[in-house]
Amino acid sequence: MQIFKFGGASVKDAAAFRNVRFIVQNYSVPGELLIVVSAIGKTTNALETIFSKAHGNLIYEEDLLKLKDYHFSVASELFSQNENRVFQHLELLFANLQEQLQNLVPDKFDQQYDQIISFGELLASTLLHHYLKTENLPAVWLDCRKYIQTDSTWREGKVDWTWTEKLIQRDLPEMLSNGNIIVTQGFIGGTSNGQTTTLGREGSDYSAAIFAYCLRAEKMTIWKDVAGLLNADPKIFPNTVRYPQISYQETIEMAYYGASVIHPKTIKPLADRQIPLFVKSFLDPESEGTRIGICPHEKLAPAFILKQNQCLISFGVKDFSFISEQNLSTIFHVLSELRIKINLMQNSAISFSICTDYDPTRLEKLIETLRDQFQIQYNISLQLFTIKNYDSESIRNLTAGKEILLEQRTRNTYQFACRA
Ligand code: ASP
Ligand code: MG
Repeated sequence: MQIFKFGGASVKDAAAFRNVRFIVQNYSVPGELLIVVSAIGKTTNALETIFSKAHGNLIYEEDLLKLKDYHFSVASELFSQNENRVFQHLELLFANLQEQLQNLVPDKFDQQYDQIISFGELLASTLLHHYLKTENLPAVWLDCRKYIQTDSTWREGKVDWTWTEKLIQRDLPEMLSNGNIIVTQGFIGGTSNGQTTTLGREGSDYSAAIFAYCLRAEKMTIWKDVAGLLNADPKIFPNTVRYPQISYQETIEMAYYGASVIHPKTIKPLADRQIPLFVKSFLDPESEGTRIGICPHEKLAPAFILKQNQCLISFGVKDFSFISEQNLSTIFHVLSELRIKINLMQNSAISFSICTDYDPTRLEKLIETLRDQFQIQYNISLQLFTIKNYDSESIRNLTAGKEILLEQRTRNTYQFACRA
């Protein structure tokens, strides 16, 4: 069996849903397919706005109405008005969402975030399920929160693999053997006491890989609006090239550095069970795309990756002693407690610097905690560029005219932080 993952762009409107149906009909067989779908279009961003407004006691009703209209307008293009069930189903989900928004409590931000933001995927999977059924495909809807079991690390649930595999193995092979196409949600999971968790933004790829792993799928395909895995994001860099095939290792590293094409956690479960991952264009399903798997290859074309909105933080010792392992251990401990992820780090005689995604709340806590021990300086609004498999020309071209604040080079990778 195989796993298809459809992201937000592939279900952004009614035409996109029709295209998904076309792909399902032509590139899979009922009984051998599980579909993971993300929230439609930019729904997750909209839900984040609604949630933060609601949480801050600001007026969110208009945004919520807009989101509801969006879903109903897609639905009314896909379904005739007498298909009451789907409209009722959407009404129910929106009523439930509204109720939860009205009952937010001041703290527990991250926990409540997960309960609210997960509606995007519930709505999308409901739409897709009903739509495939009206098109006479044997779709069944699966609540993945009952299968993907996580701890309660809100917004980044850690998967309990043993439980998850057990639950999936208990039910899904039988559902498939009855000739069904399973439609389920990306991005979300559930705790043992029935709370919803999310797996981290853009986490639907990871969800698909979890199902692939637990079902020992033959292959998994991520359907995207690009021709495959490219050496750079074509929206940012000119003259991109597609890798026809690439190893798990290379892909993991690219994802780690911030290549937005695949969620970083996706590759490990697939590599563990040697399940090949195909990245294909939903706009041109006949084209070859990229195969990610076990494959030896020569040196690859340089890959260019950009992370925006970076913050460079330097911790200096206060008394002209050197930065010691003890100092580093203190800093790392606090970073880990605050869940601040290091994208790049460098040590010098009297200071230690890190580049991280900019998060004002976490930064403030970090400074508060370490202010007594270190002289802390930071810059924000930076960009972090990575060139994997660099050559001198690629470095020359990319750094030209940029004000570099920090740079680093290993055998295969060149990185620098600069002003945006
Ligand atoms: N809808 C979620 C997000 O936008 C998950 C995903 O798209 O993978 O982050
Ligand atoms: Mg998305």
